[in-house]
Amino acid sequence: MMLGAGLLGVGRPVAESLTQPDLARLLKESAVEPRAMEFSGAEGRRLRGVVRSVRSADGNGVWQVCVLQDVTSFRELDELKTEFVHTVSHDLRRPLTMMEGLVHMIEMLGPLNPAQQEYARRIRLSAQEMNRLVKDLLDLGRVESGLEIRRLPVQLPAIIAKVVDALKPEAAANNVKLRVKIPEGMPELSADASLLERALGNLMENAIRFNRPGGAVEVSIKTTGNMVVVAVKDDGIGIAPADQPRIFEKFFRVSSSTDPERPAWGLGLAIAKSVAEWHGGKIWFETKLGQGSTFYLALPWKG
Ligand code: ADP
Repeated sequence: MMLGAGLLGVGRPVAESLTQPDLARLLKESAVEPRAMEFSGAEGRRLRGVVRSVRSADGNGVWQVCVLQDVTSFRELDELKTEFVHTVSHDLRRPLTMMEGLVHMIEMLGPLNPAQQEYARRIRLSAQEMNRLVKDLLDLGRVESGLEIRRLPVQLPAIIAKVVDALKPEAAANNVKLRVKIPEGMPELSADASLLERALGNLMENAIRFNRPGGAVEVSIKTTGNMVVVAVKDDGIGIAPADQPRIFEKFFRVSSSTDPERPAWGLGLAIAKSVAEWHGGKIWFETKLGQGSTFYLALPWKG
């Protein structure tokens, strides 16, 4: 019913009697276990399928067990929430720009006494922080909806060089060295340059912020099969096992890492993940508590 078909043909290969090519592919795949995927079912439903291979009792055969869950109402709620966040973020832009402008005027029209100067400085910083949050939310909405994104041929080394350049002051302020290892003659990628810049910038910024004084951040590129993999390695604090499963969630922050001078919104990795997925790529990490982490961003060469 969920799939819009009657009983599946008994005795026929399941992939042959399915009308959903995505589900058929998921059943035939033999990658990491369990395999999970979301796809469209009958009557506009969204379904989530989880597949596991199970060895038969005599050990001679392998069975595929697939659990289907109807996630239509979750998706609808999620879309409403996304729409709401997008509208609020959009509407906040104007008053925030106004606040920044007005506080600038107050400073110019002075003279202000030291306490007034300090308050004006704090209002300006707060407005800037809120602007950063609004920009992150709008960018995330843009990637998630896939609107206003364009794939063009891009030079990955040039994008990395630009991001590294922009982060040099922050690295110097944190006493962290930046190293780049890029092989010669890299072919072009088909990608949205501004989004890649954003994703790599977020990974490198984290690698600097969660590093230790005197530590280093190393950015390198490797090609494997049809993927190009950028690795961002740091010598920082690492990520505790309990936090690891939630690290790419929106608004997730490790409580000990909050800096009162620069509030973190926990959106950087969510944006990087959406960017990777929009390009048909992947993001993952390896980490050792107290020793450092490496974040990997893999993108397909041919889009
Ligand atoms: P933000 O940096 O804005 O907090 P992110 O989504 O980029 O949000 O990161 C979420 C959390 O993951 C961070 O608050 C931090 O605790 C942790 N984290 C991210 N990158 C690293 C890293 N390289 N090393 C250690 N912890 C990290």
